[in-house]
Amino acid sequence: MTRDEEKLLRRAIELAVEARSGGNPPFGSLLAGPDGAVLIEERNSSLTDADITAHPELKLARWAARELDPATAAGTTMFTSCQPCGMCAGAIARSGLGRVVYALSGDQLNSLKPPGNAFTDAPSEGPALYEEARVPVEGYYT
Ligand SMILES: [Zn+2]
Repeated sequence: MTRDEEKLLRRAIELAVEARSGGNPPFGSLLAGPDGAVLIEERNSSLTDADITAHPELKLARWAARELDPATAAGTTMFTSCQPCGMCAGAIARSGLGRVVYALSGDQLNSLKPPGNAFTDAPSEGPALYEEARVPVEGYYT
């Protein structure tokens, strides 16, 4: 990581401080172009928006998919105060962003939470009903 990239990562941490000051969970992220110019910044607003999906990384991924062409998106880097959660990582993959640089890892984040405060996956079942479920999918991805 270059010194300029460290500055961008420190800005993401500042955004996390701002999120917490504003009454939200302490996470912030920004998206930078290939030249290091900041394209957009976001803070977690899941409490003030009453929206469990209002993570800054997801907001940036949605913005990039909506506003950037694929080649431009591939040239961007997301700098984020914490490693993206599973929800955000999926959106980032679909958005075509080029790279993610994070400060805290998910494990480091969990070590800072009280015991039993980490998110766990809901129990799930499947696959099931393959013959019926494949009908709307077949031929879609050609
Ligand atoms: Zn997330």
